[in-house]
Order: sequence, then structure tokens, then C-alpha cells
Amino acid sequence: MIRFGPSGNGLRYYSEGFKSSVDAPQWLAKQGLNAYEYSFGRGINISDEKAREIGNKGKEFDVAISVHAPYYINFANPSDEMAAKSFDYVLRSCLKVREFGGNRVVFHPASVGKMTRKDAVELTKKRMSRLADLIVENKMDDCLFCPETMGKINQIGDVEEVTEFCKIADFFIPTIDFGHINARTYGSLKTAEDYEKIITHLINNLGSERAKKIHIHFSKIEYSNGGEVRHLTFADTVFGPEFSPLASIMKKYKLEPIVICESDDTQADDALIMKQLYESID
Ligand SMILES: [Zn+2]
Repeated sequence: MIRFGPSGNGLRYYSEGFKSSVDAPQWLAKQGLNAYEYSFGRGINISDEKAREIGNKGKEFDVAISVHAPYYINFANPSDEMAAKSFDYVLRSCLKVREFGGNRVVFHPASVGKMTRKDAVELTKKRMSRLADLIVENKMDDCLFCPETMGKINQIGDVEEVTEFCKIADFFIPTIDFGHINARTYGSLKTAEDYEKIITHLINNLGSERAKKIHIHFSKIEYSNGGEVRHLTFADTVFGPEFSPLASIMKKYKLEPIVICESDDTQADDALIMKQLYESID
């Protein structure tokens, strides 16, 4: 089944008087949403007890919870010591997502830094192989680990790179962030065909089973020469991308992704707009 939900709690959640994320699953279910991404962007700070509490609510209200690993991960860092920290962030995120009752860990693969892009991608691949070994050694291969397509040009993670990383192990599935892709390609996502090219690339390289259950991030994003500048809301009419053409491709290929909205403050409202757009297509 396909699921829609926000990353974190939007402005409306707090303005309606809610303070704790423990109430988020029930609130989301009431809106008509059934996914929720919890971000560890600036560190993994939540206690196991709290995560379990939110996870129990997620189960009760049928809201699937994924986590976003810390932003500090960089598998192209030349230092092995720093790479060890990156491995640790991913594995610790997995321990937490289990407390949430979920099974998806989203992470940003790497930055180019001072290397050539080719060398940085090669190093990232090696580190992703090591990560795959660690995942198996720690018996975490029942979870899905989702490297994300990134919005800035100097970040590693265009569609091709992320697809290559996912070939390393079956438990790697792509997080396709269409806002990021649109930003790093200066607005290339316009027609249904533009989206279809990405989906068929995934099907041809990873097989339709894995392509069907990809993780999706969707938001409109401002961009300039370096790619992503900032996340916008669906009210934006300048930068895009638009969700409707993607919705028709999702229907055409019978995709069953988890679609997470990362709009700035209106993520729940915009997730609902996507769900309604998707359901309006026959
Ligand atoms: Zn991300």
C-alpha cells in the first residue's frame, strides 16, 4: 500500500496546542495521513522509552514511522575514524527505528569535499559495502536502509549514484527526493515523462519489486547555481516541482512507496494535498 505523511510536526500541529510527538500518530490519522518521519538530523536524542511510546501510537493508528539519520554522515570522508562515526549513526538510527516499530532508515550518503567526484563516489561505494557487512553482522538486515538523492551539486547522490549504491545489497532502497533532483538539475522535472525516466531507471537497475517500495521525499525547493537553497511550501509557483505528473506515474507503475513531505512548516497539509491529488487520478 502507498502511504503519505510529513517529516516532523508542522506549524499547525503546534498551533492546535500539541506539544509532544507522542500525539502525532493520532493527529496524523485524523487528518487522513498514515506515515511519519522522525528526524535525527542534529543527533539521535530521543530515549528508547519515548520512541516506543510514539511507536505504540503508530501501531494503534496505522501510521508507519521511518527515521532520518543524522546529517553528519559522510561516507566520502577520507578519514576512517570519521567513516566509523558515519557507520555508527546509521546503525544507531536502525536501533531507534525498531523502537518506533518501523523499519526504514533514511540517510544522506556523502559530500564530494576536496576529492574529485569520481574518487568520492568510489570511496562512498566501498564504505557502503562495509556498511552492508555491518548491517548483516548486527542482524539488522530485516530493516531497509535508504540512501537519499541530494539537492546540492557538491553532494553525492544523483539518481544514478544512489541507484549504484543500492545495487550493493537488497536492503538498500533509494530515497528519491524529487525536490532535490529538481534543484540539482535546475528545474528539469516538469512532465510525467520526466518522472517516468527516473522510475524506469530504478526498475531497470534494481528490479520492479524494489522500485515499487522506494522511499519518496517530496517538497518544492528553491535552487541556484549550486543546487538546493531552501525548502518551500506547495504555495510556491516558481521553483517546483509539481506532484501531479508524478502521481500519474505512480499509478501507471503501481508504485507503493512511502511518500514523505518536507515542506517548510506545512508538511502535513502538503502531504494531504499529495494524497488527494493521487486519489483523484483514476
Ligand atoms: Zn534528507
